Amino acid sequence: MLTAIHSELRNLLEGAVVLPGDAGWDEARSGFNLLLDQHPAAVAFPVDARDVAAAVAYARRARLRVAPQATAHNQGPLGDLEGTLLLNVSALQEVRVDAGAQRVRVGAGVKWDRVAPRLSAHGLAGLHGSSPDVGIAGYSLGGGMGWLARKHGLQANAVTALEIVIGDGQLVRVDARHHPDLFWALRGGGGNFGVVTAIEFAVHPVDELYAGALFFEFGRSSDVLHAWSSLLPTLPDELMSWASLIHFPPLPDVPAFARGRSFAVVMAAFLGTEAQGRDLLRPLRDLGPVRDTFATVPPVVLGDLAMDPYDPLPFHLTHANLDRLSGETIDELIAKIGPDSGRGPTVTMFQLRHMGGALARETPGAGARATLPGEVCMIALGAVMDEAGDAAVRAALAAVDAAVLPHRVGDYPNFIEVPADASGFFAPHVWARLRAVKAQYDPADLFAGNHHIPPAVPLQRAA
Ligand SMILES: Cc1cc2nc3c(=O)[nH]c(=O)nc-3n(C[C@H](O)[C@H](O)[C@H](O)COP(=O)(O)OP(=O)(O)OC[C@H]3O[C@@H](n4cnc5c(N)ncnc54)[C@H](O)[C@@H]3O)c2cc1C
Repeated sequence: MLTAIHSELRNLLEGAVVLPGDAGWDEARSGFNLLLDQHPAAVAFPVDARDVAAAVAYARRARLRVAPQATAHNQGPLGDLEGTLLLNVSALQEVRVDAGAQRVRVGAGVKWDRVAPRLSAHGLAGLHGSSPDVGIAGYSLGGGMGWLARKHGLQANAVTALEIVIGDGQLVRVDARHHPDLFWALRGGGGNFGVVTAIEFAVHPVDELYAGALFFEFGRSSDVLHAWSSLLPTLPDELMSWASLIHFPPLPDVPAFARGRSFAVVMAAFLGTEAQGRDLLRPLRDLGPVRDTFATVPPVVLGDLAMDPYDPLPFHLTHANLDRLSGETIDELIAKIGPDSGRGPTVTMFQLRHMGGALARETPGAGARATLPGEVCMIALGAVMDEAGDAAVRAALAAVDAAVLPHRVGDYPNFIEVPADASGFFAPHVWARLRAVKAQYDPADLFAGNHHIPPAVPLQRAA
């Protein structure tokens, strides 16, 4: 019966509509984390803004919620999507680069891999993160912490305009002068306010930079994390570095030298000369890496510097922002997941990103996600291959959480992969303003963003 009702949607859209039981249903509802299962009422693939508006209007009439999604890289917080129309915007593929104005306009389905190489060819760089496979819209709406973040801040605050279908089915253009409250809320408040169809943002002149990775024997993990952590206070905003412990799987798309091997790795991107960069990183290089890929490179190289996976995988992930990384915490982490922990490759990737710099400074006109708390961002991911592995990964990630707890100062919502109370992601006054904007633009709570922002409840007048 429900399926019969939702099949009406097919007549309204030029793009495909896939319903439970249809051939292609499993593919249509699939996401990036193979441990998770989305069960929406239907999946629609709009081909343009008109289609998006028609799908939103239909959902409102049919009493469905609407979850905008592009790559499903952050599907976990949405839960099972019961009673929800999943609006997959991946067909919105417009890309316009205005190199002279240092501005980009993309459709909401565009991933960084379609933009970063074009920018690089013009001597420009956007504020993308570790994976070119991530969608620009979802990344930007949640924050967006990339390789140039200590110098240029979050991608959300590089956004100059958005086009969005709101709850009444209207397509509106939003920028600093038009719907300024909505413009503020969208830059950090995620997909809670409507379905973004296009997004425009500023990019930066970067002809080349000094970037690469130092690979150390896994047995040196403790030395590497201690040396990296001691170095952080000396590093300028122009240098962003990440220290990781990585167990590379024995898969063909892993670089041959790393396949099936484990390393402590320090990756960095430096907006400066090779001589300066070498000087800044000397204490790490003095530890004797077994492989050193640093070179002066065009910005396109940043796309694959982190060697993130492209294919969906089954995983659990944990994350925290830390005020600092004390020597005792490093020792505890190494004891729990390091070479002698007995845990083997349970935590497939443990990563620490240096924050601070522009990430800690609110700029005039910034959006709801103006800054991120903490000096170090921790992410730990464990790939799960079977049931026994699931329990082992959960236990190892819990051990990581316990080790960093004394230094935990907050979260970065884009790295939260489970349903969570989003009020904890924002300062109280920011949260109150987000809820007020939600009440203004989506009082019926039609849109299900990955991290839910409920509309503010109107104050009851005394009789
Ligand atoms: C391998 C990997 C690497 C990553 N690296 C980084 C990194 O370096 N830095 C960083 O900051 N983050 C990183 N992330 C996190 C990433 O920013 C988030 O997962 C982000 O939400 C992904 O956006 P998406 O559109 O690709 O994913 P989706 O799951 O499709 O979207 C996530 C959410 O964004 C919103 N959204 C998406 N499209 C629209 C739209 N058109 N209209 C309205 N709302 C929309 C929705 O609320 C949606 O639930 C990484 C994630 C993965 C899996």
